[in-house]
Amino acid sequence: MTRAVLTLNAGSSSLKVALFPAQGDRSLATGQADAIGPEGTLKLKGPFGQPLEAAPGDLGSHGGAMRTVIDSLRVEYPDLALLSVGHRVVHGGDAFAAPVTVTPDILTTLEKLSPFAPLHQPHNLAGIRAATEAYPGVPQVACFDTAFHRSHPWVNDAFALPRALYDEGVRRYGFHGLSYDYVSGELARTAPHLAAGRLVVAHLGNGASMCAIQNGRSIASTMGFSALDGLPMGTRSGQVDPGVLLYLMDQKGMTAAQISDLLYRQSGLLGLSGLSNDMRTLEAAGTPEATQAIDYFVFRCQREVGAMAAALGGIDALVFCGGIGENSRMIRARICERLGWMGIEIDHALNAANGPVISSDLARTTVMVLPTNEELVIARAARAAVGISERTAA
Ligand code: ADP
Repeated sequence: MTRAVLTLNAGSSSLKVALFPAQGDRSLATGQADAIGPEGTLKLKGPFGQPLEAAPGDLGSHGGAMRTVIDSLRVEYPDLALLSVGHRVVHGGDAFAAPVTVTPDILTTLEKLSPFAPLHQPHNLAGIRAATEAYPGVPQVACFDTAFHRSHPWVNDAFALPRALYDEGVRRYGFHGLSYDYVSGELARTAPHLAAGRLVVAHLGNGASMCAIQNGRSIASTMGFSALDGLPMGTRSGQVDPGVLLYLMDQKGMTAAQISDLLYRQSGLLGLSGLSNDMRTLEAAGTPEATQAIDYFVFRCQREVGAMAAALGGIDALVFCGGIGENSRMIRARICERLGWMGIEIDHALNAANGPVISSDLARTTVMVLPTNEELVIARAARAAVGISERTAA
């Protein structure tokens, strides 16, 4: 019998899945359904990245896509026994500092957080509902992007707004917590002396943020109330002066929906370059606008490494992850270029080989590349919920 846990990441029209065995770090299969609806597509891969045949099925809804994925996996693993399902949920609010097995009451609590993440939370919760319906009796485990950051001190949790807003939940939550959890756990395993120190982790993908971690605990993050703050991203603005939003509303009559579209979908690398949200495309393009978009990205990354190091009172290691952080030696080299003052100096041969360590021997601060694995963090939580501990699994 193949005892396994499923991880799900449900977006507005997409569903990312991974099937993990009850023990071990390598997934048995991964899949992605896109454009869920009449034009839905599904791609599945096996443990070595080889394409797997998708079973014919309904990709018209999340529930249908989920059943199609499982039907396809049952062709590969006919004796599949699903132990639990782990879900990526963007917002756990103030209450959840760890994964939780979902009950009807917990689902109601999570629904109340939807106004804080209207573009993501409702889809994440729809994924939980669809999986509950498809697999009644199988524990559903919610894993939160915010949970890792609940250790922020008050000064990094609050905005200087009237206190009533803080009390109703207008706080700096921080996101990408599953990725930071993975990276800090990996460091604790492979380089405990660094994990015990002051880390700045840069998760640079289509979404991008940084996290200041001290002795395994997040103390600050560049993302705040929403996943818009901080660094510029593929299509998201990153930090903007709130006065700009007042100008857009007052002088240009833009609605909240229009501003949301501007900040989430039309800004960042795409907005600056007028070309693409994809760093590879911009690196290859060489147009003045693409070059400026990269310059802006690099500059804001340098600034925020400084800000995170200031929050930590120094820095022992800088770790890159995410699609850009793991793959673009050019961006890593450029970010590090102006950080010599904090003991950062990279070795270009090591950087070209993508790490893991890319700092030069004599540098005071270690610089690393560590591929992140958010799915594995979710899978571990899904296992833990049914009593499988990683120590017995290792
Ligand atoms: P997401 O946040 O959606 O998970 P990823 O972490 O996959 O995104 O990151 C996607 C980004 O990584 C894109 O901008 C892509 O261009 C960039 N990327 C991936 N590989 C490379 C590479 N070899 N060089 C430069 N950028 C890369």
